[in-house]
Amino acid sequence: MPRITNIHSHIFTGRCAPDYFFRMALPSWADRWADEIKAFLEKRWMRRLIKFFASRRGNSQLLRYLQFIEVGTQSTQEEVFTSMQRAYAALGADTRFVALTLNMDHMDTQPSGHARIDDQLAEAERVRSHFPDALFPFLGVDPRHKQGADLLGWAREKIDRRAFFGIKLYPSIGFFPFDPALDQLYDWAEQEQVPVMTHCTRSGTYYTGSMSNVLPNMRPPTLNPAAAKQMDSIYKRIGRFRESDFTWKDSKYGCNIFLHPENYEPVLHKYPDLKLCFAHFGGDDEMLPAKFKQPLREKGIDATNWHDEIKRIMGLLDDSGRPMYENVYADISYTLSNKDVYPLLNTLMRTPLAGRILFGTDFFMTVREKSEAELLQQCTTNLENGHFQRMAAANTTDYLRSRIYDPEVPFA
Ligand SMILES: [Zn+2]
Repeated sequence: MPRITNIHSHIFTGRCAPDYFFRMALPSWADRWADEIKAFLEKRWMRRLIKFFASRRGNSQLLRYLQFIEVGTQSTQEEVFTSMQRAYAALGADTRFVALTLNMDHMDTQPSGHARIDDQLAEAERVRSHFPDALFPFLGVDPRHKQGADLLGWAREKIDRRAFFGIKLYPSIGFFPFDPALDQLYDWAEQEQVPVMTHCTRSGTYYTGSMSNVLPNMRPPTLNPAAAKQMDSIYKRIGRFRESDFTWKDSKYGCNIFLHPENYEPVLHKYPDLKLCFAHFGGDDEMLPAKFKQPLREKGIDATNWHDEIKRIMGLLDDSGRPMYENVYADISYTLSNKDVYPLLNTLMRTPLAGRILFGTDFFMTVREKSEAELLQQCTTNLENGHFQRMAAANTTDYLRSRIYDPEVPFA
């Protein structure tokens, strides 16, 4: 019987994140006071005091945010991991967790005193050594950190000795997934069937410096010039982002340029068997477009609905009617915190895409919405007809399986 896996979680601590990271996670009313508020909340006694007053006044939004800071500022990744694991006690002891590491060393040109990627990875690896059959970290990759054969050698060493089990991309921190520096890594990942996970919603973290730093060239180089039609559409979109002050002057929206699902088409055109998961299925805002305002769509800069775009890529057929990209998956992490997405998910689980939809939560980013135990409960009760079991056990097992790791053989 395949085991249940949470395919999308994070255990990095505030120590690994740039000083400006938590500022992005603050509710918008607090924007102006972000630095002060962060310094303030990092003191445990201060959090306790605020919690006391917030609960007396019934301010649940503030309480949840404090909870988020509390997890994010815990001192070790092991503490963060075990606090997540505890929420799964009801499912039995053998739940597996994929923890996505994230390279946050290139998010701005501002100085930051955070622990760099190698420290974050070393700590994740040490925690894994304590939970060898429960914690499966993915490797946070950024083409500005290492490129080509150097990047491949670095990643391969960690994945070959089974310290890491997949690759995590987070393009909105300032790179395109079709960056030629990633070419050799994709080539190897496709051959070895090593899973790649990428962030795909219009929100989340992003490059906080100026757009001209990360987009100096309106025709950025591509690993697949042969995908001329796809690249042409991408370059046209870049042109629209460049022309509008809304996207060019505010990297919160501008960095959507890197995240767009279409950016993977040149990659998949070259590596059609690549195992790739679009995290968050495009986001609850794109799944429920009638309920959310989408400024880029309203301004005519980018009208695509990312949820529809992901479904389109997953469902593409070749000339003989066979699926073109059978290894493209989507996960429901974070998105699952919105109750209104479940009717859609139940419908999708009755379509040919059902075998490629994965369960994950996005702990601890989601602590701002609900506790992990509440999210899990909401998910298992709102998904019908064994859909949870299929998403969380059978599908995640298929996704995790590579030539290097067989998820059906337990680690001793
Ligand atoms: Zn995430």
